[in-house]
Amino acid sequence: MYIGKEMKKERNSKKAEVIGNSKTVLALRVLDVLERHLQGKLTHLGREKQKVASSEVQAVAFRVLIGTILSHRTKDERTEAASQALLSQYPTPEKLAAAPIEKIRELIKPVGFYNSKAQYVKKCAGELVERFGANVPQTMEELTGLTGVGRKTAGCVIAYAFNLPAIPVDSHCHTVSNRLGLVKTSTPEKTEQALMEIVPKERWAQVNELFVLHGQATCAPVSPFCSKCPLNEMCPRVGVKTSR
Ligand code: SF4
Repeated sequence: MYIGKEMKKERNSKKAEVIGNSKTVLALRVLDVLERHLQGKLTHLGREKQKVASSEVQAVAFRVLIGTILSHRTKDERTEAASQALLSQYPTPEKLAAAPIEKIRELIKPVGFYNSKAQYVKKCAGELVERFGANVPQTMEELTGLTGVGRKTAGCVIAYAFNLPAIPVDSHCHTVSNRLGLVKTSTPEKTEQALMEIVPKERWAQVNELFVLHGQATCAPVSPFCSKCPLNEMCPRVGVKTSR
C-alpha cells in the first residue's frame, strides 16, 4: 500500500513536470513569434536594451510609477499626454508631493478617474519622500505598500525601470495567456503566479509588453482577429466565442 502511494506520488509529480515543461515550450514559442511579429513597436524592450544610465534610473522609475498609476482604464495616448503635462511641471517626488491638488487634477484631466488619481499620485509622491528619501523602491513589497500601487504597477516599475525580473499582468496579459492555454486562471494575480512558474526568469520582462501589444492589435477582448493572428496555428482559443 505504502509503495503504491509513493509510486502514484512520483507519477503525478512527473506528470506535473511534463505539463510544466510543455507549457514552457509553448510559452517560449509564443514569445519568440510575438517578438518577431511586433519588432519596431517594442518601446519598453528598446529602452531596456539601451540600458538606462544609472544616474537616470530613479527619474525613469518615477516616470514609470506615476505613468502606470495614471494609465489604469485609460487609453495610452491620453496617459502619455497627462503624464507629460504633470511630470514636466513636477518632475520629482518632492515637487509632486508639494503640488496643489487642484493643479494636479487640471494637468491630468484627460485620464479617466482623474479626481482619485490626482489624490493617489500626490499621496504616493509624499510617501516616497517620507519613507524612501524621495527614491522609488525596487521590491514588490515596498512598492505595493504605496498609495495607488497594485502588483501590476509595481511589476512595471521593477521590470521597465530597474530591469529586474517581474511579470506585470493587466487585463490583456490575463486574457491572452488564458486564450492560448498557457494558464487556466480566474484573476490577473493568479495569472502572474502561473506565468512565473512556466516562463523562464530571463524572459519575464518581455511578457507584459508583448501580450499587451498583441491584445491591443489582434487578440481584442471581445472579438479577437484570429484570422490574421501570427499565433493562429498554435492557439486553442480557450473561451473565445466570436472571432474575426
Ligand atoms: S488565435 Fe485568436 S485567440 Fe488565439 S492569440 Fe490569436 S487572436 Fe488571440
